[in-house]
Parts: sequence; C-alpha cells; structure tokens
Amino acid sequence: MLSVIPFDYHMHSNFSSDSDASVCAMCESAIQKGIPEVGLTEHYDLHPKERPVFYQPEAWWEEIEHVRKNLNGQLILRAGVEIGEPHRFPEEVKALLNHYRYDFVIGSLHYVGDDFMFDNKLLERRGADEIMQSYFLELGEMTRTPQFDILGHFDVPVRNGEPIWRSYDPRRYEALIRAVLQNCIDRGIALDVNSGGLRRPANNLMPDFLILRWYREMGGQHLTLGSDAHYPWDVGLHLDQALKFIRDSGLKFITRYERRHAELQPL
Ligand SMILES: [Zn+2]
Ligand SMILES: [Zn+2]
Repeated sequence: MLSVIPFDYHMHSNFSSDSDASVCAMCESAIQKGIPEVGLTEHYDLHPKERPVFYQPEAWWEEIEHVRKNLNGQLILRAGVEIGEPHRFPEEVKALLNHYRYDFVIGSLHYVGDDFMFDNKLLERRGADEIMQSYFLELGEMTRTPQFDILGHFDVPVRNGEPIWRSYDPRRYEALIRAVLQNCIDRGIALDVNSGGLRRPANNLMPDFLILRWYREMGGQHLTLGSDAHYPWDVGLHLDQALKFIRDSGLKFITRYERRHAELQPL
C-alpha cells in the first residue's frame, strides 16, 4: 500500500499567467515534502478572452531540461500541459502536441462559451442548475475529442460556486455526468483527482465523491492526483486526503504517465 504521496500531476509555475513561482521552487518543495514525482502543467489557453496567448512552450521546455539536469535523481519531473477548452482549438492543439513530447496532457474546461467558470457574479446570477448543466453538457462535447489524457478538475465551477449556492448535488445532473464519464472510459481519459478546492472556502475535492463512485461502477479505472498548486507551499497539499477518498470510493489504482503512455499502479 502506498504510504506517501506518489506524485503530484497538476501544478503551475511562472510560465502560467497566474503564478509567479519558479519551476525550481516548485520542484524543491516537492523534494522537501518527500514527493518522488511531479508534473508541471502550465496553462495553454487559447480562448479569445485569454489573448494574447501567454504560454511559451519553447522557453518552458528549456527550463524543464535545465531543472532536470540539476535534480540529481531526487525527483522525477514530468512535462505536462493544461490545455483550456482543447475541443474548441483542435488545430492549435494538434500543432503543439505534434511538436513537443509531453508526458501527459490535461484537458480543462474553464469557459463555457464566453462564460468564465470562476466569475463569482456570473455564478450568482445564473445559479447552480444553469451553470452546472451547461458546464457538464460542454464537458460532454470536450471529452468526445481524444486530444488529451487527463480530464482536469471534473466539477470545477463548484470551487467558486459552492460558497455562493450551498446546494450542489451531482445527482441533479446525473445523466449529463454519466455521459462525460462514459466518454472518458471509452477513450481512456483519466480523471484528475484535484485537491485545489480543499484549501478554498468550497472545501471540496474534485470530482465529488458520488461522481467517483459512479465512475467506479461504470468500470472506470484511470485516476491521477493533482494539487493544482500555483505556489510552492501548496505542492502536494491535501493529496493524502485525495488518496483516502479514492480508496473509500473503491477504486484500486492510480495512473502514471510517461510520454503519454499510461501505466496503472495499484494503491
Ligand atoms: Zn484549470
Ligand atoms: Zn491548473
């Protein structure tokens, strides 16, 4: 049985617009916490509201290679990327993934149309049902395109929404959620068990426990662990709780990636 946190596959550095931590500082934090493997996953956002595009893959890859040389076997550093709305920008995504050999690719939905899922005023105005229905419907679209390996933070509007709504219940959207899960299972897309909500007022793990149970019932197996850290002190944070959560749901494996090849590891 795994006693330590085996990896953290969702974290950002100053190559993402919303972090000012160096790649080195993020890695050092993982080493200090005894986490043997991490994946840096900078945002590659192409949505019109995120232009000009901030992501600089060439400079980032140089930095990754540089940091890897100095790690002296203390840490396995995976090269990941978090692509926002990959289904909406198929040509750009294809070009990036043909050019660079990432270890894994996270697909994340931050926008539904032009609606930003972290806009508190929008979340309040529209309410839980309207936001979550439109979000899961769009997630169904996104998971029909197999251009990524891991689905990021499954029910992320809840992260900002729950403190406003206080009424999120995935059973209200069960059919939509199961359609997303079926797409993931059919295409071998893993779920990012994301602890980023546990350090926020929502105090939630993503996906919700019930969603993880449905995934297991439907035959899903592939899960990764991610803190979604944007600062060194958040690296690996609450992933021990994520592991317990996975075990409690009855799932038996986590998935490691190298050069986009998935390998199940028993828990
Ligand atoms: Zn994200
Ligand atoms: Zn992220």
